Amino acid sequence: MTEPPPQSRYHRQTILPGFGPQAEAALAASHVMIVGMGALGCPAADLLARAGIGTLSLVDRDLVELTNLQRQTLYSERDVGRPKAEAAAARLREVNRSIRIHELVEDFAPTNADALLVTHPRPHVVLDCTDNFQTRYLINDACVKHAVPLVYGGAVGSQGVQLSIRPGITPCLRCLFPDAPAPGASPTCDTAGIFAPVSAIIGATQAADAIKLIVAPRTPPLGTTMLQFDLWSNQRTRIDLKDARDAACPCCGRRVFDFLSMTVEATILCGRNAVQLPAPSTSPVDLAAVAARLASVGTFTMQSNATLTGTLSDGTPLTLFKDGRAIVGNTTDAAVARSVYARYVGL
Ligand SMILES: [Zn+2]
Repeated sequence: MTEPPPQSRYHRQTILPGFGPQAEAALAASHVMIVGMGALGCPAADLLARAGIGTLSLVDRDLVELTNLQRQTLYSERDVGRPKAEAAAARLREVNRSIRIHELVEDFAPTNADALLVTHPRPHVVLDCTDNFQTRYLINDACVKHAVPLVYGGAVGSQGVQLSIRPGITPCLRCLFPDAPAPGASPTCDTAGIFAPVSAIIGATQAADAIKLIVAPRTPPLGTTMLQFDLWSNQRTRIDLKDARDAACPCCGRRVFDFLSMTVEATILCGRNAVQLPAPSTSPVDLAAVAARLASVGTFTMQSNATLTGTLSDGTPLTLFKDGRAIVGNTTDAAVARSVYARYVGL
């Protein structure tokens, strides 16, 4: 008697209706970019790595913090202080070593959005797992401009929202919400908290739509609705978007990409008493050389080859990223942060 052949790791997925060897091959040949490796990006990336997406690009500018561990399911206590994209990539390589993972410790910004969607191996799908409106509108602009399907997700408090955008076919984010809310007008995870099961559900629905868009690109079974729910009160709504595409939409109607042409300003990092400064140039920083210079004015360590982090002798926390961005602590004043950058890092 001959032994049955060993089952592929994807067997339980292959036998699903709508899957089979062709779908597996499509997943293996696909590239999904996840922007934001936080509460939504973690469960989404985990599911996509396990599903056999051939290439995953993980874009995140931030470091793992202790308060992330309540919901950001790829990280453990030993990852605190490490760039999220790197920590997530390391974990996902343990999950599935047969896929390619690009960890991109950088901001998704107007300066690099086109390059991320074009010169990188072009993604088949982008997942918006970010937490701020400026980046969300920027991702929407970039995906519509380059005709890349976009799966949008949001979670705050006990509420979640999810929507998939197929440029030229379905409404885009600006058809539905023409303008981003004013700064401070919307609750954030820092001010309203987040019920972790909500982000797990939204991340999972984003992974599901990404898989559908890859397995059945012409007729993905997505529906034309926006899912909204409150997991605490158990209220769910599906908003029909069949007629919501706006011919006058600045983005997908008139193709004016306002957010792609914005200049990047310093960002006050909500709840962290810190300011993030954009990279002053497009050249990568020689972190080892900066570390050597900073040795006389503070205590700094290379966290990885992508970040240098430490404290200046006056107690100011400073993190410098290889792409030139910096996070300056102990202040919410962009001018003070710029002056620290200019003094200690240089422009
Ligand atoms: Zn639109």
